[in-house]
Amino acid sequence: MKFGGTSVGSPERMKALIPLITDPEKKIVVLSAMSGTTNALVEITDLLYADNANEASLKIEILREKYHKVVDELYDSEEFRTTGHELINSHFDYINNFTLRVFTKLQEKAIVAQGELISTALFHHLLKERNLKSALLPALNFMRIDKDGEPDYFYIEENINRELRKHPADTLKITQGFICRNVFGETDNLKRGGSDYSASIIGAALKVREIQIWTDISGFHNNDPRFVEKTSVIRELSFDEAAELAYFGAKILHPSSVNPAREKNIAVRLKNTMDPEDEGTLITSNSVLLDYKAVAAKDGITVFRIKSARMLMAYGFLRKVFEIFEAYKTPIDMVTTSEVGVSLTIDNPQYLDEIAKDLRELGSVEVEKDQTIVCIVGDFRTEKTGSAPEIFTALNTIPLKMISYGGSQNSLSLLIDTKNKTQALRLLSKHIFNN
Ligand code: ADP
Ligand code: ASP
Ligand code: MG
Repeated sequence: MKFGGTSVGSPERMKALIPLITDPEKKIVVLSAMSGTTNALVEITDLLYADNANEASLKIEILREKYHKVVDELYDSEEFRTTGHELINSHFDYINNFTLRVFTKLQEKAIVAQGELISTALFHHLLKERNLKSALLPALNFMRIDKDGEPDYFYIEENINRELRKHPADTLKITQGFICRNVFGETDNLKRGGSDYSASIIGAALKVREIQIWTDISGFHNNDPRFVEKTSVIRELSFDEAAELAYFGAKILHPSSVNPAREKNIAVRLKNTMDPEDEGTLITSNSVLLDYKAVAAKDGITVFRIKSARMLMAYGFLRKVFEIFEAYKTPIDMVTTSEVGVSLTIDNPQYLDEIAKDLRELGSVEVEKDQTIVCIVGDFRTEKTGSAPEIFTALNTIPLKMISYGGSQNSLSLLIDTKNKTQALRLLSKHIFNN
């Protein structure tokens, strides 16, 4: 059971979790940092990078005070409040120490990890005050990524089981989402929103009955509720559909979080902590076909347009293009080809200039930033007729920069300028979901 930032975002919310996790079924509770904390810690590391230790110290003290208030409200007894304040001070003294030294990349991860370390420690302490037996499993003792940033399942399985053996089977277990160690054993993380991924990795490693992601909305909606009004919940999604939508921007799930569950065929249930009775969304291998199921959008996309006379009737051209991206370990999201050119998109701009330079050896190259991929999940079986046109009718006022259809039976992707995203999502909502 993973509880996100808002689900642990205040003393009231933390207290409200207790009835959700104290039934007798064996479980591991994965917690995020309290909402706003990871952002605040990232801001602090940005200030430290900018050599602005004074401003960083100021922000650290503001956050420390916020947590002292949380402690005052969270615990009933003076004894637990005192140990709570000590706990907060130990974490913030640790963070503040970084203002006195030269700042490195490694330390950034160590600072950002404090959010989850604090929320789990506070919650564990709360359960103790209520005389509820629980064990805190340190995620840094078992969660690990390999040299490619992928979960090291062999290590994770061995080590989480070793941690579990330290405690009686029926004791409630709590652990941190998001944080992990890298291949060098240093503190690292699974990228923003990574607590979902932690829960899914742990669920897969332990082959659990079900993975539950508890958040602040009742399940997976058919469009992005941050940009579109009147979205509605989807009760069932297949792993493939959910993975596609998560990868292409549905913030409710971390982009990789469906993969471990899909691999082990473990159901993922999305639930709302503010409305625990709502059934939410169930993600399984089962696929319920619908013409249009959901839409998601992913910003921060860059498109490369490569044109070459040598592509005409040539074989091996695409391989040369792909090898360049491979050399810079940069995944490609979308591809379209024509007789004389190929367009590709990436979401990681780290090696943009190097990639463009190498591509220019193959032909002329145009690079455009600030693009968005809109992904529509539905029933796009190739033998079927008459569904996709509605998408193009809906978007007839939006310039479409790339179209990808036929790559899978259940999705269609479009590339548009980011400035047109909100409008595109609203038009799709109106025309294909009749809202
Ligand atoms: P948590 O902190 O619990 O991980 P997130 O903010 O990461 O929560 O994810 C939940 C949010 O995702 C929702 O509040 C909603 O605004 C946003 N969201 C984006 N797309 C969708 C979608 N298709 N369905 C549901 N929520 C979505
Ligand atoms: N706290 C981390 C973040 O804000 C991880 C998470 O919430 O899933 O990105
Ligand atoms: Mg999240």
